[in-house]
Amino acid sequence: MLNEGLMNPVIELNNIVLNNKIPNALLFTGNCGQDKKNAAILFAKAINCLNKPLISDSIGAVVQVGSYNKMPLSESLPCNSCRSCMKIDSKMHPDIITISPEPEKDVIKIAQIRELFSSTSSKPHEAKMRMVMIEEAHTMNQEAANALLKILEEPPERTFFILLARELNELLPTIISRCRHLRFKPISQDDVAQRLIQDFNISPLFAKIASKSSNGDINKATMFVNINSNIEWIKRRQWLFNQILMLIKPNQSSSLKFLYALVLAEKLSKETELLQDSISLLKLCLRDIALIKTALVHFNNICDLDKSILGKLINSEIIVNLDFVNLISDIVVMLPKNYHLMALDAIHKAESKLQTNASARLVLEQFFLSLIPSKS
Ligand SMILES: [Zn+2]
Repeated sequence: MLNEGLMNPVIELNNIVLNNKIPNALLFTGNCGQDKKNAAILFAKAINCLNKPLISDSIGAVVQVGSYNKMPLSESLPCNSCRSCMKIDSKMHPDIITISPEPEKDVIKIAQIRELFSSTSSKPHEAKMRMVMIEEAHTMNQEAANALLKILEEPPERTFFILLARELNELLPTIISRCRHLRFKPISQDDVAQRLIQDFNISPLFAKIASKSSNGDINKATMFVNINSNIEWIKRRQWLFNQILMLIKPNQSSSLKFLYALVLAEKLSKETELLQDSISLLKLCLRDIALIKTALVHFNNICDLDKSILGKLINSEIIVNLDFVNLISDIVVMLPKNYHLMALDAIHKAESKLQTNASARLVLEQFFLSLIPSKS
């Protein structure tokens, strides 16, 4: 089923198929990973389907573009049963080329793009139009992006490119200018939660937390709940939160916390590939602390948690970490008045420093140490 967020790109792709005016390069952006990929595959099938001759071929005339806007989608859908459709479905089609980031490294390298020069230098083997799909195109390093640009400037024969990326601003403007851009709207957080419940048989509470933590990004949400992946994020998240709350809790020995902060910084700095997601989770934990603290200060200005305020916050759906809410509330009432603002500022600063060449360990040490509340 195509979700609502897909409708506009689908109508546009439908018109491209019907008009048989295929751009050299399409760029799909949006945080709905699998849906962009499904749309790209469906498009390649529709273009190449042997039972759906392209309309301009069948009537032998150039067709008025505007007259297709009201065409039903079924007019451009592939048959799913011809040789071409079946080969594409079984990933056996020689003219459907997929480039994705190298596993573990999360980057598309220039060598992968260079291979395209040779694989697209001759005519397609059997397709009407060859498709090169570049998944996670935002992970191309500078050299890879420049190499791709060269190919896009002199597009190979009967070949179109589809780049899949999260955000437009993560790509080189020169690449964007060569592509026709289609933006896929995010899937709603409720829909993401429903899919997680169906696919992983997890509790509605965890599905909701994963969906909120990933801001509706289905790939990320799946990563958080998939216990078969390399990292068990459900356990890791619980461990991380317990560590951070230990540092924040005011009635603990400070010297022990200093030691803890240093050990935690060392551990996280070594897990480079998990760092970004770990920081994102910690940010959400500190955000929840800030929300609860702000509500306390706003409504009461006293250090006593009114359960009805907490109830209102939970019902308003702005709290993300619902399973930690009681633990967080117990800690929040003991924190200094502006602690939450300092903590949010500290994590934002740490996050920007981590994107530079600064030592991850030193940045994290500074950050975790700053979270230890000073004794008043
Ligand atoms: Zn077909």
